[in-house]
Amino acid sequence: MTKAPPRDLTRSNAHYRRAVQRLPLGVASTFRYWGDDRTIYVDHGKGGRFWDIDGNAYVDYRLGYGPAILGYADARVDAAAMRGMNVGGVFALSTERELAVADRICNMVPGMDLVRFSNSGTEAVMGALRLARAHTGRESYLLIEGSYHGLFDAAMWMVNVEDWQPGGNLDPEVVSYSKGIPQDLKALAHLTPMNDPQKLEDVFKRHGSSLAAMLIEPIQGNCCGISATTEFVRLARSLCDQYGVLLIIDEVKTGFRVAKGGVQSLHGVVPDIATFAKAMANGYPIAAIAGREEVMRTFRYGGAAHGGTYTAHSVSLAAAEECLRILDETPALATIASYGEALKSGLSDILTRRGIVHSFTGHSSMFGLFFAPHAPDNYRDWKLSDYTFYDTMAHHLHDLCIICEPDSREPWFICEAHDAACLSDTLKAVETAVDLTLE
Ligand code: PLP
Repeated sequence: MTKAPPRDLTRSNAHYRRAVQRLPLGVASTFRYWGDDRTIYVDHGKGGRFWDIDGNAYVDYRLGYGPAILGYADARVDAAAMRGMNVGGVFALSTERELAVADRICNMVPGMDLVRFSNSGTEAVMGALRLARAHTGRESYLLIEGSYHGLFDAAMWMVNVEDWQPGGNLDPEVVSYSKGIPQDLKALAHLTPMNDPQKLEDVFKRHGSSLAAMLIEPIQGNCCGISATTEFVRLARSLCDQYGVLLIIDEVKTGFRVAKGGVQSLHGVVPDIATFAKAMANGYPIAAIAGREEVMRTFRYGGAAHGGTYTAHSVSLAAAEECLRILDETPALATIASYGEALKSGLSDILTRRGIVHSFTGHSSMFGLFFAPHAPDNYRDWKLSDYTFYDTMAHHLHDLCIICEPDSREPWFICEAHDAACLSDTLKAVETAVDLTLE
């Protein structure tokens, strides 16, 4: 069997030792630290690949956690961003282009009437929750277990399944994702498992009249791509209607990626508010809150506060205008989906030939790979399953210059620039990585 060639990380390792003197863990975001000897520093990206500072060329399936949907350094979007740069940045005033981008979003996503911009997914979801609270006059909210909606305090609650047994009477304890989150806030957050209609109805029966919003990612972009069934999303919609709760669909990862109209359009469900970010500008920082008119008009003086110095920055806005145009008017999304299908089928062949049971979750443009006959339906099933095979395989893939997230919760993201060469390099490396994992 071919051993993984040693990857030269001399410069990255040396840079890490310098960087850690100045930057906690040597990085700008905690999730970029992969160990003292395995943290890599990027020189540049182009298309479906990036190069580290040692000159290793990687095929990348993280794409910055999804944003680079057309590939890195896309000439069309970068030229638009350059035009946006000439506008001058921020003015604490609006520009005409905001309307053009808002029009595009409302034309692409059914049921969205008005739009506000933000800088990141976190800001957009935080704004959406505030909007829902301001509109309903209620404070508590419902989250789906295993979801990630950003780094703000209200979103960072999960269930602790370490000591929990399936079939047990009690639900797992709710805990915060991070230290530093006021425990007093816990009382406002309710959690329920994905795809469990009975539990969803129960939680609405108990708390529905005090909920401002229910937040859901119908494809959980931070939990192995676990997907809601259409029945579950529709049940959520009808319970929200019944109890006067606003439905927020978080499309930060799925928006403009799994379909022009987002994952909500695949389920035929229109939320009251939707949040978008990653794929909308091919990596330039911008996000959007969109929704139904009556709700969105609560963004006003004396209503829900919203704004920010860098909101609708001219560079990001121009990039969004061009990126959304491409996603709307060209076959980019079909190209991405067909590459994803080819990659999944190549992975499946390799695993099946070795008798390795596996399944996929999510969508062909962002899929999870799972080593069990049935993909999990919810976070509890994922958490209680064995994902060590995935972890070891991902480690070998990195050595072979294929980058997927080392944590199996993050899906594999596909971009328009992933081409036949990326596919064949990937599948060759996967054969080796799987064999090394089996050793
Ligand atoms: N919502 C979802 C579904 C996400 O996946 C993320 C980030 O991964 C966020 C919100 C937060 O977005 P950001 O990292 O841009 O703040």
